[in-house]
Amino acid sequence: MTSGIVFNISRYAIHDGPGIRTTVFLQGCPLSCWWCHNPESMAREPQLSLRAGRCIACGLCVEACPAHAISLSDDGPATDATLCRQCFGCAGVCPADAREVVGRSMTVGEVMEEVTKDTSFYDESGGGVTFSGGEPLMQPAFLLELLEACGGQDIHRTVDTCGYASRAILLRVAEKAELFLYDLKHMDPAIHEKFTGVSNEPILENLRALSCRNVAIRIRFPLIPGVNDDRKNVESLGAFLQGLHRVFSVDILPYHDVARSKYKRFGFPYRLGQVQAPDPARLSEIAAALRGYGLCVTVGGDNKDERTNSQAQTIQP
Ligand code: SF4
Ligand code: SF4
Repeated sequence: MTSGIVFNISRYAIHDGPGIRTTVFLQGCPLSCWWCHNPESMAREPQLSLRAGRCIACGLCVEACPAHAISLSDDGPATDATLCRQCFGCAGVCPADAREVVGRSMTVGEVMEEVTKDTSFYDESGGGVTFSGGEPLMQPAFLLELLEACGGQDIHRTVDTCGYASRAILLRVAEKAELFLYDLKHMDPAIHEKFTGVSNEPILENLRALSCRNVAIRIRFPLIPGVNDDRKNVESLGAFLQGLHRVFSVDILPYHDVARSKYKRFGFPYRLGQVQAPDPARLSEIAAALRGYGLCVTVGGDNKDERTNSQAQTIQP
C-alpha cells in the first residue's frame, strides 16, 4: 500500500470545506510564503520541533546529539541548525516532550483508519475529508490513492492547493475530488515570486484549465496588508476570475500572525515583520470590489454557504 509523509490530522475542522471535516496535512510544499501558517510543512521531510518552555534542562539531548548541535544555557536549549543532521535522536530521549518530530510516514490504510472515525459527523453535517498541507499535490500517488479510498466510502473529498503543480497531476486529482480550495496570493508574477519563492504563471494557467473541468472550486485569497491588498492587485484578481470559464466564489482570509511562535519552535525566521491584521473597513471595500466582478465573496472563512455556492457556480458559454 502506498505511503506518504503526513504532519498532522485535524478532526472536527469547520473551515476547510463544507460541514464537519477531517483535514489531513501532507508534508512538503513548492512555495515558501512569508506568512505561511505551517512553516514546518515546507520541507519534504519530517522536522524537529523545540518547545523551549517545556525544557527541564536535563541535558540528555546534549549527550545524545552526534553532531554536537545542541547547547544549554540560562536562555534554555538551542539547536544549531547548521550542524543538525535531522537524525531526531534528541527527540527520542527528551523526557519532557520539549523536542518532538513533526511529520511521519503513514500508509493509506493508516490515514483511512483515522478519517473514517468520524463518518457519522460527515454524514450529518455534509462534511468529509480535506487534503491540505504543505501542498498535497507534492505527493501525487499517495493523494490519488487516498482520494480513491475516500470515494469508495462515499466520503466528500476536498483538496486545498496552491496550484503550483504538474497540470497532468492536477487534472487527474480533479477526477477524484468534489471540491478544490485554490489559493491565489498575488496577480503580479514578480511580486508573487518575491513573497512565495515561485512565479504565479503556472498557478494561473492551471486554474484556467481546472475551471473547464467538472469540479467545484473556491478561490482562497489570503489578504496580507502591504503585500496584496492594493487596488491594482484586487482589480487584477477580479478581472482574471471574471474572465474564466466559470464564476467563482472567493474566500478572503484576513492575515493574522498566530503562527509566529511556530517559526521560533522550528528555528525559521519570520520574514513578515510587524504586519497587522487588515482593517475591517478595508476588508469590506475589497470584498465589495470583488463582488463587482460578479463573484460571491465571503470574509474570514465563513463557509456556511459553501456547498450552496459550490453548486451555484455558473458555467459561462
Ligand atoms: S536531530 Fe540529531 S543532529 Fe539534530 S539536534 Fe537532534 S540529535 Fe542533534
Ligand atoms: S532532553 Fe528535553 S528536557 Fe532535557 S535538556 Fe534537552 S530539550 Fe530540555
